[in-house]
Amino acid sequence: MRFIVLPGDGIGPEITDATLAVLRAADARFGLGLTFETHAIGLETLKSRGTTLPPEVMEASKASDGVILGPISHLHYPSRDQGGINVSAAFRVGLDLFANVRPARTRPGLGRGHAPLDLVIMREATEGFYPDRNMHAGNGEFMPTPDVAMSMRKITAHASTRIARESFLLARRRRGKVTAVHKANTFILTDGLFLRCVREVAKDFPDVALDEVIVDACAALLVRDPQRFDVLCATNFHADILSDLASELSGGLGLAGSTNQNDLLCCAQAQHGSAPDIQGQDKANPTSLILSAAMLLDWHAEKRGNQAAGAASAAINAAVDAALADPATRTPDLGGALGTKAFGARVAALVAG
Ligand code: ATP
Ligand code: MG
Repeated sequence: MRFIVLPGDGIGPEITDATLAVLRAADARFGLGLTFETHAIGLETLKSRGTTLPPEVMEASKASDGVILGPISHLHYPSRDQGGINVSAAFRVGLDLFANVRPARTRPGLGRGHAPLDLVIMREATEGFYPDRNMHAGNGEFMPTPDVAMSMRKITAHASTRIARESFLLARRRRGKVTAVHKANTFILTDGLFLRCVREVAKDFPDVALDEVIVDACAALLVRDPQRFDVLCATNFHADILSDLASELSGGLGLAGSTNQNDLLCCAQAQHGSAPDIQGQDKANPTSLILSAAMLLDWHAEKRGNQAAGAASAAINAAVDAALADPATRTPDLGGALGTKAFGARVAALVAG
């Protein structure tokens, strides 16, 4: 498998190095036949090439077996016509990676809520309240007067139906429950359409239970009763906020892996940003990107029947659990003393067996 590696800004290069160490160990043990092709993106290419995302990177990614995408800084981000391309949006919308899969699972000995959780938020990633994803409605935001700003949210049956279908397929492989998260009591047309599509898809999955929760109540329930959730299916903006809440409850943002995927391509990406406050200090927790890479291997197991990839993913998850279970081998965000590099080496050694 040929993976494109895009380390990105801030803590990106550090957590990418740690992730590659773990993938190399998995490759040596499970014979995955991995090769890595690294490209610069972000601030580095903004300076050298005038764009955060050179066009050949997208071409190489399209033709690859998967992408490992680091975070991009938003601190020094110029406008799009000055080369400030939103890389996440370019991947999600440009390559139609419509499903942003965001799991949150309390790891042994960690967790900030009063009960452990084990859930997956399925975030629709191509439309919603994001100006750069509402191409057909201008840029989605506008100011009719200097003191009034307006924002448009696009919801379609097409996008709602396909994220719902992915959610039900995933729930079938887990505990058999989908929670549709919405605000249809207020956003009658947009969330109403989303909910109508989820209900329609549910008819094809009589073996999966459908639950419907209003987004604000969902935030409260995630804290009060997280065990009621298995797979949450939500529109873009709602899911973005809820997934930060869920990952903090599970132990912290540094644990939060994710993928952007469709049936043709999968891109591993940590849920958090470039964390410029701890950049270059060997303090970042690489678990988020390590688990994202494990999800990419799971995608190969599920969509391409690659059993070795599935076994490698399970070994990485077990190694992460074992490293995190011991307070002596945790990173500083979790109260430990291990640096990014040493933590990556520890997980790699556990994967090697
Ligand atoms: P960006 O503009 O790139 O989103 P940000 O300032 O919003 O950057 P985030 O990456 O979203 O930063 O992180 C929010 C907070 O969580 C920061 O204090 C950061 O240090 C911390 N954090 C995020 N990821 C990690 C990680 N992998 N390990 C440790 N701390 C992290
Ligand atoms: Mg951020």
